[in-house]
Amino acid sequence: MRYLSLIILLLPVAAICNAQKLMGFTDGDAANQTKWEKQFDAQLNVKNLDTWMKFLSSHPHHVGSPQDKANAEYMADLFSQWGYQTEIASYYVLFPTPVIRELELTGSKPFRAKLEEPALKGDKTTGQASEQLPSYNAYSADGDVTAEPVYVNQGLPSDYDELERMGIDVRGKIVIARYGGSWRGIKPKVAAEHGAVGCIIYSDPEEDGYARGDVYPEGAFRPGEGVQRGSVMDMPVYPGDPLTPGTAATKDAKRLKRNDAVTIMKIPVLPVSWEDALPLLKSLGGRVAPFSWRGALPITYHIGPGKEKVHLRLQFNWDLKQLYDVIAKLPGTEFPDEWIIRGNHHDAWVNGAGDPVSGIVSEMEEARVISGLVKNGLKLKRTLVYCAWDGEEPGLLGSTEWTEDHQAELRKKAVLYLNTDANSRGFIYASGSQTLEPFFNEITDDVIDPQTGVSIKERKYALDIVSAGQAARVNLNGNRNVELSALGAGSDWSGFLQLLGIASLNIGFGGEGEGGEYHSIYDSYEHFIRFTDPGFQYGIALAETAGRAMMRMANADVLPFDVNTFYKTVAGYVTEVKTLTDNSRSATEEENMMIRDNLFALATDPLNKLKSPEIKDPVPYLNFSDLENALVQLRDTTGEFHKLYNNALLLPPDRQKELNEILFTVERSLLYDKGLPGRPWYKHQIYAPGYYTGYGVKTLPGIREAIEQRKWQEAQENIEIVSKTLEGYNLQVQHAMKILRF
Ligand SMILES: [Zn+2]
Repeated sequence: MRYLSLIILLLPVAAICNAQKLMGFTDGDAANQTKWEKQFDAQLNVKNLDTWMKFLSSHPHHVGSPQDKANAEYMADLFSQWGYQTEIASYYVLFPTPVIRELELTGSKPFRAKLEEPALKGDKTTGQASEQLPSYNAYSADGDVTAEPVYVNQGLPSDYDELERMGIDVRGKIVIARYGGSWRGIKPKVAAEHGAVGCIIYSDPEEDGYARGDVYPEGAFRPGEGVQRGSVMDMPVYPGDPLTPGTAATKDAKRLKRNDAVTIMKIPVLPVSWEDALPLLKSLGGRVAPFSWRGALPITYHIGPGKEKVHLRLQFNWDLKQLYDVIAKLPGTEFPDEWIIRGNHHDAWVNGAGDPVSGIVSEMEEARVISGLVKNGLKLKRTLVYCAWDGEEPGLLGSTEWTEDHQAELRKKAVLYLNTDANSRGFIYASGSQTLEPFFNEITDDVIDPQTGVSIKERKYALDIVSAGQAARVNLNGNRNVELSALGAGSDWSGFLQLLGIASLNIGFGGEGEGGEYHSIYDSYEHFIRFTDPGFQYGIALAETAGRAMMRMANADVLPFDVNTFYKTVAGYVTEVKTLTDNSRSATEEENMMIRDNLFALATDPLNKLKSPEIKDPVPYLNFSDLENALVQLRDTTGEFHKLYNNALLLPPDRQKELNEILFTVERSLLYDKGLPGRPWYKHQIYAPGYYTGYGVKTLPGIREAIEQRKWQEAQENIEIVSKTLEGYNLQVQHAMKILRF
């Protein structure tokens, strides 16, 4: 009898333990949601990914090309067939295409660069020369310059510091930089700041060519004549159409004159293959490049300047081109004015099977299956908005113009923006607003890695722990949390996150589908199915991951935002900027002492001299107290909120709605209307692309970059701005607490 009652007592507990818990769902709703997710997985059809990729990558489909428009119409048709309210939103943007491209070496061994990627027999679409954009960097300046060349390694600010010590001045020179180390647009920007008159960027085989693996078509890597196209627009200042910053590029929009658009590069810049770069590099004399500056070419790398001059001539057609964003909505049943937004771009530099088609076909399959479930009875409380962006490659044009166009509505309605881009075989990676970290982690428990049969979280954990150093491994041991890294730039989230303060996620798989096809004519269907994601297994895994995120966010009773994770992450950033200041202070003191003691002069090889660096101003003590105080408040409120979060599941519906509105708009309180120093478009005070790194994120950018650039007063001002920002965030959480304590 006693035994029996024990069983009866334990039974409900066991039943609850078996049922899956989902953040923000009551147990009953979680069980229902999980049931629909199983059906979702079962209906994903790999054949669709293959069919759509064949079509979408069948011809070059850059901005302004016939296939770009055809692809948008093809996708819009499908979304409509699936029951989405679909429209194509059009904008008119400045998109330069090349008219003249000439690069030659003059002098005793003249050479003229081919600037052409040869077609390959086994890969049909590589032969569509008449439809392909030639290799170029979009938003380079027009120019006709002849000058001595100088090799500047990756062309980063630190490379110019070293050049300075070598006594090499690039004023009036054409610099040759290799790809890598930063976003490409940083290279000509820093070159121009140092007075260079032209910039050539080449793909060293060390980066993605024969030094990494067999080259295409034998292997996946970049062949000798392969070129990486790409934009050099100064996106860290503002992304989107250069002529309409902050406003939508509609037909009759007020436009800047081209000369007044600061995001257009100041000097001509051209990307080339290593085969075209080699004769130029060989012509360089002067000092031998430092060890870390050498790539994998079979030459001794010299810095120059070269004895033989380089002639670079570029001219572009600066027409406006039409963009086609596909926007497809599935209205929510209970909260149609709360939007869960999903996006991936559809434009490519050439055929773009990997970038971006691998991502967009997965998004389409996800959208198709969800709409099918809805027809079969799945109720989605919130509205889903599926987007296929145009013009991402030249400068996040389509997504930026659309977010600028719908600012007011998006500020009110947007709950989440979920972005994907090129996808490949390997491990889950994710970046985004840290409030979403626990929510995202639940999803990674439920998606199975197609190659190993364990969850994508387990697989990521294995990678992290195997590749970590010994010290980091101790910290990781047992901690399976998939951390969300911070978002900089690089794909279509900028308008959502950094302009409008919409919580955002960027996710994908990668790490095992590496190759050298990026932004070349070799990013083709053939290349993709051989090397990147054969069988589209990870295309399906991506749909399972993103689809869950969309459906859970659309259906949660209480939105799954965890403000406490945000607090913890920001506290970490604050520690970092304080350490950065302290380290900068001691490094400055040390270096100044070494300069005063003449140590640099004595340590350098007299036959190969390096100049002593200049004495630097000492680093003052900054006052972080307001920031620390704001953090303490935030720790307490978000900690308490975290503890009480589950109480929200018991709230009456109207109170729950009120709470949800606070939760999804809390990210907006991280915006500062005047934006970041020198770049008012970027309003988010926690995340921004680095002014001198491009893709690379800077967290607490206003403070961190001021410290890095030794602008102490600006650093102090930004400490105050961020303190106020966090106080505002804290107020929002306090409002939420009032509702929780009903
Ligand atoms: Zn892309």
